[in-house]
Amino acid sequence: MKSLRLAILALGFVVTTSFISDTSLTDVYICKGPYSKKYHYDKNCRGLSNCSTSIYKITLTDAKQMGRSLCGWED
Ligand SMILES: [Zn+2]
Repeated sequence: MKSLRLAILALGFVVTTSFISDTSLTDVYICKGPYSKKYHYDKNCRGLSNCSTSIYKITLTDAKQMGRSLCGWED
């Protein structure tokens, strides 16, 4: 039964990993200014303090699809 236990362990690992890496429910903040190419975990981040537009809350998945990368203050 050793292989069965290994299989269960492996399955548990996959489930745990996919849960942790599921970014679809993570909210991030972006500025929609013309030079904004970053996203922020912290709404009060100094990288957002000079944003010229409103600050928008979107999901991390959307931010990545927009080609955004993590803010330099938060990486
Ligand atoms: Zn930031």
